[in-house]
Amino acid sequence: MASDPDYGMFINGETVPSASGEVFQLTDPSTGEPFTTVAKGSPDDIDRAVRTAREAFESGVWSEKSPKERAAIMRAIAAKFLERAEQFALAEVQSSGATLRRFLNVDVVLVMDLFLRTAEMLEEFPHKEVLDAIPIPGPSHDFVIREPIGVCGMITPWNFPLILASWKVAPALAMGNTMVIKPASYTPLSTLLLAEVCTEAGVPPGVINVVPGPGGVTGESLVTHPEVDKVAFTGSTVIGRRIMQLAAGTIKKVTLELGGKSPNIILDDANLDVAVPGSLFAFLMHNGQVCESGTRLLVPRGLHDEILERMCAIAKNLKVGSPLDPTSDMGPIVSKSQLETILSYVDAGKEEGARLVIGGNRLHPEGYEGGYYMEPTIFTDVKNDMRIAQEEIFGPVLAVIPYEGLDDALRIANDTIYGLAGGVWTQDPEKALYVARKIKAGTVWVNDWHTLRNDGPFGGYKQSGIGRELGHFGLEEYSEVKRIHTSMVPEREKRALYDRVLTLR
Ligand code: NDP
Repeated sequence: MASDPDYGMFINGETVPSASGEVFQLTDPSTGEPFTTVAKGSPDDIDRAVRTAREAFESGVWSEKSPKERAAIMRAIAAKFLERAEQFALAEVQSSGATLRRFLNVDVVLVMDLFLRTAEMLEEFPHKEVLDAIPIPGPSHDFVIREPIGVCGMITPWNFPLILASWKVAPALAMGNTMVIKPASYTPLSTLLLAEVCTEAGVPPGVINVVPGPGGVTGESLVTHPEVDKVAFTGSTVIGRRIMQLAAGTIKKVTLELGGKSPNIILDDANLDVAVPGSLFAFLMHNGQVCESGTRLLVPRGLHDEILERMCAIAKNLKVGSPLDPTSDMGPIVSKSQLETILSYVDAGKEEGARLVIGGNRLHPEGYEGGYYMEPTIFTDVKNDMRIAQEEIFGPVLAVIPYEGLDDALRIANDTIYGLAGGVWTQDPEKALYVARKIKAGTVWVNDWHTLRNDGPFGGYKQSGIGRELGHFGLEEYSEVKRIHTSMVPEREKRALYDRVLTLR
């Protein structure tokens, strides 16, 4: 389709149409109706954006600014973002189905804090490290510096479009890189706005570029582009594997934040007044469309009935409805196809012999009949080898698995290809620490879920990813390390090593 889009691409500090003039439509998942159009970027547009990012990088307009100067601009981004928070909220709610309630209470705070914290961490970061002198053949000076990697290609998903783009943009900017972002096709708007805000705050043109377009074509051309030095991807493990293969062609640096099937273990001494609502929060926030959702609930057999009774009593009162309604607990699923995927997993669970205790159906709230809503859904008597326990559903579907003792719980917890997160509910600190150490995952929550912090690492063990985002760990992922050695020995005769290895006289 070719016409003037409501939203263009963002290249070299400007909003521009795609080279082909093609556009694509976005659908509001709360109504099922199209609501806006966006320029559809092609490999030609990616090439233009990458070349722009390369020129900006080599010019030094950003990479050669001091950390202090870059930190000041990061703080300005946080302020500009807050001024336009309402615009971000509407874009995000209308395209991703995030509830306005969650976006204002969680996303806005996290994103603003991220840019502020990153500025702080950037100023404290050890950009230079002096090493002890090597005694032979005489005095020398050795130090290690951090340098930006260059042009970063970023590919982001639709579940938390703004947060997950910011997790890449903030550290990449902080460390002096330039970038091209290919946002998810359902949700490119907030990333385009973020690029605008960064530019308004003082990030020079060409440093941050956004090219929306289909992953299989536009995304792949970014990953294979020879002028891209690093690829940062968040999305499914299947596509993560593909990205790694494609990036291998030019040995790009790669960070991957992929899927999860996180085990949530309630121990028999847990305070159920907190563990039960906490476990609902763990799998229902944003309809379970969160990579670190607690989607496998491991319960002691003796407490199984009580836990399920309590969970269902709360779940049946949750309000599923318009994401703009502040009383809605859950909004729509992101798309019709994602809703269909989730419903097909409900069928798979029934076919495999799991017992559906609540939910499992599409909903049609009054006034929003065409939207993609779904009931909170709980299966029990799940065996860990069933598809609903092994595969990432990305919907409001919980697999409850009874266990027979702590060793059994830990065996089940770690019996997965994923290792993004896990959690344990107990009142015994020793047991809590024991379980936290035994779970093979990048984040473990004790008596909590979903709490993230911008100065702590996030990422996966096993097939949940490579590398870490956030904190100084995240900053490190966006820099190269260079050692500089300077000999302070002017005398030729003291260069004994030369003569031991080669005859150079
Ligand atoms: P994908 O992994 O397919 O997509 C994530 C991003 O990658 C999107 O920007 C997408 O573009 C892009 N992409 C897709 N194919 C390629 C490719 N071959 N090369 C380069 N980029 C590509 O996730 P989906 O959006 O399709 O969701 C599918 C499943 O992935 C979900 O059900 C869920 O299980 C999981 N998922 C996990 C997330 C996480 O945070 N771990 C986040 C989102 C999804 P486009 O949007 O144009 O397809």
